[in-house]
Order: sequence, then C-alpha cells, then structure tokens
Amino acid sequence: MEITGRSIIGFDRGSISKETFRAFNPKTGEAVEPEFHSTTEDELNRAASLADAARIPYGNLPGKARAIFLRAIADNIEALGDTLIDRASLETALPNQRFLGERARTCGQLRMFADLLDEGSWVDARVDHAIPDRQPIPKPDIRSMLKPLGPVAVFCASNFPLAYSVAGGDTASALAAGCPVIVIAHTAHPGTAELVGSALMEAAKSTGMPEGVFSLLFSSGYKIGQALVKHSAVKAVGFTGSRRGGRALLDIAAARPEPIPVYTEMSSVNPTFFLPGAIQERGESLVTGLHASVTGGAGQFCTKPGLVFLPESEASHSFISNFKFEISNTPTSPLLTGGIQKSFNDARSKRETEVDDYFEKESGDLPGFSVNPSVFETTAIEFLNRPDLNEEIFGPTTLLIKSQSKTDLLEIARSLEGQLTASVHGTEEDLKQYSDLIAILETKVGRLIFNGFSTGVEVCPSMVHGGPYPATSDSRSTAVGSRAITRFARLVCFQNFPDSALPEELKEDNPLNLWRVVDGEFKKD
Ligand code: NAP
Repeated sequence: MEITGRSIIGFDRGSISKETFRAFNPKTGEAVEPEFHSTTEDELNRAASLADAARIPYGNLPGKARAIFLRAIADNIEALGDTLIDRASLETALPNQRFLGERARTCGQLRMFADLLDEGSWVDARVDHAIPDRQPIPKPDIRSMLKPLGPVAVFCASNFPLAYSVAGGDTASALAAGCPVIVIAHTAHPGTAELVGSALMEAAKSTGMPEGVFSLLFSSGYKIGQALVKHSAVKAVGFTGSRRGGRALLDIAAARPEPIPVYTEMSSVNPTFFLPGAIQERGESLVTGLHASVTGGAGQFCTKPGLVFLPESEASHSFISNFKFEISNTPTSPLLTGGIQKSFNDARSKRETEVDDYFEKESGDLPGFSVNPSVFETTAIEFLNRPDLNEEIFGPTTLLIKSQSKTDLLEIARSLEGQLTASVHGTEEDLKQYSDLIAILETKVGRLIFNGFSTGVEVCPSMVHGGPYPATSDSRSTAVGSRAITRFARLVCFQNFPDSALPEELKEDNPLNLWRVVDGEFKKD
C-alpha cells in the first residue's frame, strides 16, 4: 500500500497542503520519505461535521454490526503484513519483533471489544417496572443504559505506534461504544499512522459504516489538534503523552463553552519497592528483572520503574553494583524523537546536579537520537528533601533509593503523586509487616503488583491502566481492558416509553438476551 502523506477525511483524502513535515529515522536522525501534508482548517471542519453527521446512525447501529466493523479493522491491519511492521520499525528504531507483538495486541483488543459488543451486556441495562397503584404516588416505568458520548478526538502516543495510536486502545474503545473517531497522528510515525488509517477507512467502507465514522488528521504543529479539541462536534478526548501536552488539552477542553471529558494518560514513575526478604532471597533474578523493565523499549514505557526503593543492607550494595554492571553492558539505544532525546538529556543533566551518585554506560558515538543508559543512586532522606526527584525521565534510566527504615518508606509513599502502578517485591510475611505501606499505595495507583515488574500491561477485562492525577486525568477509568469502553459512554434514562419505542437493550422481553438489573435483581430473562 502506498503512503501518500495525505490526511483521511471521511472516505476521501486530504489535500496536498503547503504545510508539511517528515518522519525521522531515529538511528541516523535523518528525515525519511514521503512528506506529510498538514490538514487544513477547512478539512478539519469537514472531518468534524462528517463525524457529527455519523453520530446518530453509527451510535444507533446494533452492537453486532459494530463488532463486524472492529473485526474487519483487525483483519485489514493484519493484511498489511510486513509493510506495516517495516515502516513502524523505520520510524521508531524499535525492532520488528516488538511490532509483531504490538500488532497482535492491537488486533487482539479490537477483537476483544467485538466480543464484548456481541455479548452486549456492557451497556448496563436496568429496568424498574412501574407501580401505578403505589401510595402515596405512583412509580413510573424507568429504564436506563449506556449510550455513546459522540465524536471522540484521539491523540496517538509516540511510544506505541500501533497499540495506542490510530487503531489503538482509545480508538477501539470509542468505536466500540458507538462514537465516531477523529485521530491526530503523532509526528513521530505518520507513515505507520497512514497505513493503519487506510486499513480502518477500508474496513468502514466494506462493512457499510457511515462516512465520518473515522478520519485521520496530520498536523505539523499543535494548531489542528487544539482546534479539534475546541470543536463543538467533539464530545470527548483520548490522549497518551507528556504531562505538559495532556494538561494543555485538558485546560482547552475545560475552557470550552461546553466542557468535555478528556482522558489523558501522562506521567508515572511507577515506584518499585524491594522489601527486606526479596533482595536477600533472590537478589540476582531481581537485578535481571529490573534491568529488563528499565531498559526495555529504550525505557520509553509509561510503566517503566523510575523510582526503586531498597533497604540499606549488604545485599542491597551488591544488588546495586550488579545492576550497574548490567547497565554498562546495555547497548545505547535511539529514542523515538529528537524532542524526547533532548528532554532525556536535559532531565539527566539536571538530575546529575541533584544526586551525587550517577553511573552512565560509557560509549563513544551516539548516532541519531541515541542516548546512554544510566542509573542514579540516593538515600531516602535526600529523596524526601528533593521533590524534583519524583519527576519522570522518559528513557533508559532509573533512580535507586536506599532507605534505612520503614518509617522513611511510609513517609515517601505518602508524598508520592498519582501513579499508574506500584510494585512490591517481598515474601508474604513482608506483605503482612508492610500492610500499612500497601494501604497507602492503594490510594496512589491504578495497579498494585506483587513480585513482578510494572512493564507489560495485559489486555483483559480486569486490567486497570489508569491512576490518580498526574498518571491520568481521571482515576475512575482505565485505558486498557474492556472497561475502557465506558469512558466514551453516558447514561440515558427512558421514562414511561412504550416498549415499541425503547432501544432493543431495554425492551420488556429482552430480545438481545442481556444480563440486566430488573427491579433490583441481576438476571438474564
Ligand atoms: P507529547 O509531546 O505530549 O505528544 C503527544 C501528542 O500530543 C503528539 O501528537 C503531540 O503533537 C500532541 N501535543 C503535545 N502537546 C500538545 C499541545 N500543547 N497541544 C496540542 N497537541 C499537543 O508526548 P510524546 O512526545 O509523544 O511522548 C513523550 C512524553 O510522553 C514522555 O515524556 C512521557 O512522559 C509521556 N508518555 C506517557 C505515556 C503514558 O502512558 N503515561 C505514554 C507515552 C508517553 P506532535 O506530534 O506535533 O508533537
């Protein structure tokens, strides 16, 4: 499939506008073909009005029809074969192998939502029958369910060109909920975006979806993305990226005449606690696990352990020197963009002034957007005195913090900002002794992990990939797993409607055979 460098507006292509940009090969820092043409304001308005027009016909389609569409998207993405894998690898410098996994995850989550729609009970249908002779006043017939919010703007993530981008988790959950989607491609991987966008557009056409159910916009700056968030047709936003970017979009959405929900996934340092029993019992395997988690994907995972707490002990000293040895043997890795490389280098230089102990792999050449892996080391007292040490550094580095007492750890845990995850390594006995630490962490994170590392997010119904601000802008939801669908839906209630005028999900004889709450009882008949 040819990459044209033009946006996708409904079932059409955008114009060859004068404002252009290119992707870069992070290994060399050189621009790659072709040129991408920024969406014009007229094209943005057309995408938004098409999405607005598709809102009711698409939102009112039976779930099973939307499921067919989602499966067709997955099939078309797989049919792109090596073209997609090679382009994603060229634009990110991440290995092909990584994209085989990410493609499987992307298609898997599209099919997971298709299964959810086929089953149908996600709409949380509730039926309360009328009691006309109730005293002192009659009770009306009340029925409610989740309905789509309307068009959703999705911003692609730099670090997951497939799973959190054009047809990634936000798009899949919004389309599943019945919302048209307008995607802003990430400037780091526009070719990957166009390939997936074309696959999505073809799936929409071949399954008879209304035009406007999907558009893909290219933009060389922030103007188009910000105008999209301000557009009155847009009813929600999904974003994965920096705290600065997420916060800017949140503020824009809040300042609209009609404020709208914005689901941003921003920064997280994923505190990792090694309790006394852990290092003593299995220090060696923990070094290997931590190293893989800190350096995997060149440290560019939102779940990378950025703060690691160890007890002050002999065993911890040898843990730290073994970890440094692993870092010294880690190849230098190109980061995704020149901007991420600059942020990494700036943050690392700043931290060098704040922390005495710093170890960086030595290497001569740093081609393209490459950086050296590194590790910082400090004490709990120093950490408590320097709130800046809580800041995320996106890339292959982490901060090891030695603590002398449980009191320090509890104080640190209380001082943490909201996080996507926290991990605790220890024995079951440690868990009992540190139950107060777990209780504090539970208030800070979306996911608590025992004897495991935070990278690697399983896509399944019970997953929570969320957490209190600034990990996300709304701690009540998740961006991964089937519950993500409810972010793009809202409750609608029908009072005293005749059965013939009710949505299928709420009709008296339950024609879709859904699990529903009927007069307070959870049942299927
Ligand atoms: P980013 O700079 O926030 O960019 C994300 C997307 O939003 C891009 O499409 C970008 O446009 C756009 N954008 C950024 N600021 C904007 C603004 N003020 N107005 C309108 N659009 C804006 O983040 P990134 O460069 O992709 O990733 C690096 C950072 O993201 C890291 O520091 C990391 O902390 C964070 N991150 C977090 C997660 C997570 O799940 N929590 C995942 C990945 C990354 P352009 O394409 O034009 O730049």
